[in-house]
Amino acid sequence: MSDTLFSKIIRREIPADIVYEDELCLAFRDIAPQAPTHVLVIPKKPIPRLSEVTPDDTALLGHLLAKVATIASDLGLADSGYRIVINNGDDGGQTVDHLHLHILGGRSMQWPPG
Ligand code: AMP
Repeated sequence: MSDTLFSKIIRREIPADIVYEDELCLAFRDIAPQAPTHVLVIPKKPIPRLSEVTPDDTALLGHLLAKVATIASDLGLADSGYRIVINNGDDGGQTVDHLHLHILGGRSMQWPPG
């Protein structure tokens, strides 16, 4: 697959405001926040999108989701609540072809999403 700017962030080739890192994932603040708190959680494995995961990725996906909850709590969002978004493909609004989970919090969210 082609390199993405998120791979460059993982390799520290471009700067990011990193809030969490472990051997499997990285979390950093979105450069164009859509809520008072907007953090992206990405696997270090360059999976382009959710629809391209394989059975080998099952444990990694569980790790990402569990870490999202921990990171959201560390960001002070556990009590007020938050939204998790995964945009997948063109109609999903995905603009960066590296799987990422948006954590959005700090304001009340609307439904349905736009
Ligand atoms: P998506 O539209 O779901 O693919 O989300 C991509 C997200 O990456 C958008 O919310 C962008 O604002 C964000 N983004 C793009 N470039 C950067 C960057 N250099 N650092 C942090 N976030 C970024």
